[in-house]
Amino acid sequence: MEFTDKTLVCQDCDNEFVFTAGEQAFYKEKGLENEPKRCKECREKRKAARNNQDLQKNQ
Ligand SMILES: [Zn+2]
Repeated sequence: MEFTDKTLVCQDCDNEFVFTAGEQAFYKEKGLENEPKRCKECREKRKAARNNQDLQKNQ
């Protein structure tokens, strides 16, 4: 199956972001069926927030 870049809208910031062909292939390889709902920036932010919570828990 051929993948093509796809433009999605981030559910956090409403900005458009590109779900690239390479990322789609990666998702497929990992068996992930859902498309990303957030742009990279928001994903990084959430990841950072989660890491902070984990750190606080461990203290
Ligand atoms: Zn976003």
